[in-house]
Amino acid sequence: MKTKIIISVILIILVGTVIYFVIQNERQGDERELEKDRYEYLSTSKSSKLEGIEIESIIEYEDYYVLGVHFPITKNEKINIVIKEFINEEIDKFKTDAKEFFEGSPPPGGFSSWKYELNIDYIVNRPSEKIVGFKFNIYLFTGGGGIQFIKTYNFNFETGEEITFNNVFKKDSDYLNVLSELSAKQLIESGRIGDLVSEWMLELGTAPEEKNFERFGLKENSIIFFFPKYQVAPGAAGEQYVEFKYEELKEVLNPEITKNPIEPEEIKDIEVPDVPKVEVEGSSLAAITFDDGPHPTLTPLILDELKKRNAVATFFVVGNRAQYYPEILRRIIIEGSEIGNHTWSHKGLINLPPEEIKQQISDTQEIIETSTGIVPVTLRPPYGKIDDVVIEYAEMPIVMWSVDPQDWKNKDSEIIVAHIITETDDGEIVLQHDLYLWSAEAVGPALDRLISDGYKFVTVSQLLGFDKDPSKAKPGVVFRMRE
Ligand code: ZN
Repeated sequence: MKTKIIISVILIILVGTVIYFVIQNERQGDERELEKDRYEYLSTSKSSKLEGIEIESIIEYEDYYVLGVHFPITKNEKINIVIKEFINEEIDKFKTDAKEFFEGSPPPGGFSSWKYELNIDYIVNRPSEKIVGFKFNIYLFTGGGGIQFIKTYNFNFETGEEITFNNVFKKDSDYLNVLSELSAKQLIESGRIGDLVSEWMLELGTAPEEKNFERFGLKENSIIFFFPKYQVAPGAAGEQYVEFKYEELKEVLNPEITKNPIEPEEIKDIEVPDVPKVEVEGSSLAAITFDDGPHPTLTPLILDELKKRNAVATFFVVGNRAQYYPEILRRIIIEGSEIGNHTWSHKGLINLPPEEIKQQISDTQEIIETSTGIVPVTLRPPYGKIDDVVIEYAEMPIVMWSVDPQDWKNKDSEIIVAHIITETDDGEIVLQHDLYLWSAEAVGPALDRLISDGYKFVTVSQLLGFDKDPSKAKPGVVFRMRE
């Protein structure tokens, strides 16, 4: 009898031990699998078209003007000098005009209702390893519908030499006449000018003269020429362009231009690995938000501070910046934080036509989805400016803020920390920007204090209850804090 009991006990212990090790092993296996998924998720890099290029943004909010200017910083200093000079000139000109306006008599409704705005954004053309081009869109709002114009640059990416219109074609060829003829033909046949065709404007604007074709972009398989408003058609027809396949211009094209083309990339579907969630039941909650990023060093710095404290946040990213830092977007997601939409180029939405409001939002949704596999569910409009049209076309809830340490103006982390800890109550949404070091440095101390007071930091979706009840994330609703 005794022996039987002893044998049974030994057996139970043995079986138990085996089961324990099997479970442990499986668990470790699961963890390894999760680690591997995370690693794969984090490791995908940005588009090869943007290799060697980063983005710099200047965003300012003054009493009488707002300004959102984005420009490329490349691996070639010579190129950077040319671009920076152009950008500085545009900003200086704008600020002088805005100041003059401000010193004059205030517009109806006061300066707060009607600010001057400058927005500069750009696209990158990268037909080959050796060539890089930028098309800048300059938008100036001083009332009415605003003014748009364009500026193009093309460079040899290795030497930094500018590629001018003349470099693109064979010197001894008849390229000006060829371009003139083909352009007039394409403008008519494409129907892009519609009923507004004016024979004499078309003839003058596409005449075989260099000045008519100086704005151009070199793409993967084609060259595009931009014609500003009034060049080839009446103003109401807007900006025009013509685009020709390199093949079409083979006879007159400098063969250097089409050498070593960059292969187009395939877009892969991204699977988002599991992200553990922090338990928040019964705590005081606050949501900290960061606008205008991502930033290559400051966003990771903020993520480090959050991680140390088991806190998460919401990053309202600007689409044109997001395309340069997909790995940072993925890190935001994998660490349990949230990404919101802060539009493509940070234009004030209230002055834009509905189609452009939609475009600003949908382009940003798209780049975030292709980079992370996640579709944002909230919008924060640039400069916090909204009206009924913006609310309608946002097609998702708008999330404003309730605590604003004005970190763009208060360039001192102690002031920012003090403001956040005195103003933040249960359910509030704090506004910061991940473009400023002094604001990033305020994150740790502010969090430490509020966490010791019993706060937990969650995403805006958690704070507003969207994660548990998606029906709360209704379009047309504007949130400033938890209701
Ligand atoms: Zn902003």
